[in-house]
Amino acid sequence: MTEPLFDKIALIGIGLIGSSLARVIRRENLAHEIAIATRSQDTLDRARELELGDIYTTDMAEGVRDADLVIVSVPVGSSGDVAEQIAPALKAGAIVTDVGSTKGSVIAQMAPFIPHGVHFIPGHPLAGTEKSGPDAGFADLFQNRWCIFTPLPDTDPQALEKLSEFWRRCGSNIDTMDPEHHDKVLAIVSHLPHIIAYNIVGTADDLQTVTKSEVIKYSASGFRDFTRLAASDPTMWRDVCLHNRDAILEMLARFSEDLAFLQRAIRWGDGDKLFDLFTRTRAVRRSIIEAGQEIDAPDFGRKSVETTPKK
Ligand code: NAP
Repeated sequence: MTEPLFDKIALIGIGLIGSSLARVIRRENLAHEIAIATRSQDTLDRARELELGDIYTTDMAEGVRDADLVIVSVPVGSSGDVAEQIAPALKAGAIVTDVGSTKGSVIAQMAPFIPHGVHFIPGHPLAGTEKSGPDAGFADLFQNRWCIFTPLPDTDPQALEKLSEFWRRCGSNIDTMDPEHHDKVLAIVSHLPHIIAYNIVGTADDLQTVTKSEVIKYSASGFRDFTRLAASDPTMWRDVCLHNRDAILEMLARFSEDLAFLQRAIRWGDGDKLFDLFTRTRAVRRSIIEAGQEIDAPDFGRKSVETTPKK
């Protein structure tokens, strides 16, 4: 077993991401001690029942006391509040990072509170599910997934290397980019797909001519795949939309233009245009499988969910 990388790691927020970190930190022996701080007593009690840490508190400042690594895993809109609460208790030389899905806004909210002598390195593991809360996490969540850092101009290279090593031992591959670029990339690969899913599921839910029970009954024809994304945490995704507004609006404008092109091709019976697009997109999926970011199994590798069809 390798030596722990950190003496004490503080996890601020213990939902899907925080609790997955707790589990992988334990499994890989990455810290001598794990402190867990979360806002509500209920979530804290559940984390204790699950034995995710060694120290439990609802006092964020208490949680980070003496920690060498602090990982903030709360909805991006709460990052500033959390930074303000933990700032006075941060140890000199500690690394503070986050896992937020937007980076420009998190940096703007957190950086002003981080004291000199503490290394603030914003991060984002590109790994998740539609579930939330401490029960949802699992130690393999970050395995073979990318973790993107958006270091600040004065980031200490040694601190960055130590944090990179931490994420590598969690199973991740590391990349760095500037925050603005991160927010644009994520707008297309993550934020737009979720918004489209929320929208399509909302449209189906509002339909008058097709009944809700028909939408559910026949969902395996495609609709079902959108519902997984559209079941994602409403607080998290409200915050993502509000905190990556410019990049999302830019991508939505492009999306609307392309949708109009598709609409025109369908209206005028332009099969060649449709065929060309659908061929190009099929190749994109092949590339994702080749990159090891999806498995090549029919129906997304799902096992049949039921043996007897429900009426
Ligand atoms: P989650 O399962 O809903 O857990 C959220 C955690 O944040 C809980 O501990 C919750 O505390 C705490 N929290 C909620 N509101 C808060 C507030 N106003 N102030 C302080 N703490 C608050 O969320 P998650 O999926 O782990 O997401 C956490 C972060 O990871 C988000 O920034 C998200 O953008 C990012 N992320 C998520 C995914 C994903 O797929 N889910 C992937 C990559 C990155 P209580 O329960 O005690 O209230």
